[in-house]
Amino acid sequence: MTGTTPSPQEAYIHGQLINLVRTGRAVTRPALEQETRLGRKVVTQRVQQAIDVGLLEDGDLAPSAGGRPSRLLRFRTEAGHVYAGMLGATEMTAAVATLDGTLVASLHADWDASTGPEATLEVLDGLFSRLARKTRTEPWALGIGVAGPVDFATGRLVDPPIMPGWDGYSVRSWFRERYDAPVWLDNDVNLMALGEWHKGEPRDGRDLLYVFVDEGVGAGLVSRGNVFRGDTGAAGDIGHLQVTDDPSVLCRCGQTGCLEAVTGGWGLVKRMTERAAESPLLSARLAERGQLTAEDVGLAARAGDPLAAEEVVRGARLIGVTAANLVNFVNPGTVVFGGGALRVGDSVYETFRETLLRRTSTLAAQQLRVRTASLDFREGVTGAAILAIEQLFAPSSVGLWIENGSPVGHAVPLHRSAAV
Ligand SMILES: [Zn+2]
Repeated sequence: MTGTTPSPQEAYIHGQLINLVRTGRAVTRPALEQETRLGRKVVTQRVQQAIDVGLLEDGDLAPSAGGRPSRLLRFRTEAGHVYAGMLGATEMTAAVATLDGTLVASLHADWDASTGPEATLEVLDGLFSRLARKTRTEPWALGIGVAGPVDFATGRLVDPPIMPGWDGYSVRSWFRERYDAPVWLDNDVNLMALGEWHKGEPRDGRDLLYVFVDEGVGAGLVSRGNVFRGDTGAAGDIGHLQVTDDPSVLCRCGQTGCLEAVTGGWGLVKRMTERAAESPLLSARLAERGQLTAEDVGLAARAGDPLAAEEVVRGARLIGVTAANLVNFVNPGTVVFGGGALRVGDSVYETFRETLLRRTSTLAAQQLRVRTASLDFREGVTGAAILAIEQLFAPSSVGLWIENGSPVGHAVPLHRSAAV
């Protein structure tokens, strides 16, 4: 270590070198020289510095291409940890991950987010504290996903329909008072898409469209490894695309005819409750419990109840058509369907898939892979961990903390320089 503060340009180069090794694009010193066009001396010096602070290490000899054999460099994913949280309307998940986004421990809790931000974040932080004790770690950064629109630059929720009382709330500020670590916040479905792109199977690096069908409906797009957030972070909010001009289809956003008012779990329950008299199964369930859930409707559909089955198929076709419209527009390599709707049964996914493929243009369908989410409902929290890691290791950020070997204590400048 030099002991002097590196210039922004030097810091950027340092960040670039670490990222080339971290992402596997260049894993020997000669490959780094080639990739960055930097001289051997600078590369050797910077790599040594990263080794000294514990971020890189020398591994085995690389297969020689004729010249002098060189050592393979390895990014030490165990050098630090990030904490990841997913806040849904009725549940939350917290996890600890190593620096490649592998979850090492996680906890889940049922919780009603409409209780309000402070009480909810106390519960999430309680999960983080338990995980910290269990894993004997402290967070280098926090990544949090929420079920609502997020202004990504400021980390604030904007008018979330299913989290009343959270509008304008800064989750980042709340956590910043408790942790000396940077905090990044994003919409939950964006993070599910990011999690599937990095850790889902099969993994092929092509653009990925994630369609989430649960109580609400949303989408996330990862293009060339980056979440497409649009200008203010609102991209992907497909739940409120208008799909019918029937004025009686009221959405919780205040509009009429929205996709999730027809196909989301809550919309389905609302309609089936109104029409329960037409179905012996649903009316019995309603009389017994006083209310229906999306799961009740799914079970009725599986049991062959004509009304429930017809509504589930109608919803699934509408999701397939919407996914096809999106595919025709953005031409992704993979479409992933995820969310609780898949628990209704294989026929739901088959309907999504068939409708999607029937409506997709020939060229867009040529190389298209369609699959279900593959991370056992952990794709969101995995994506939240990856968000924190990517921000921490953005070339413009690494230089701010590399000299110390850890970003702890550098949260403020990291937020400022973050690659938003
Ligand atoms: Zn709506």
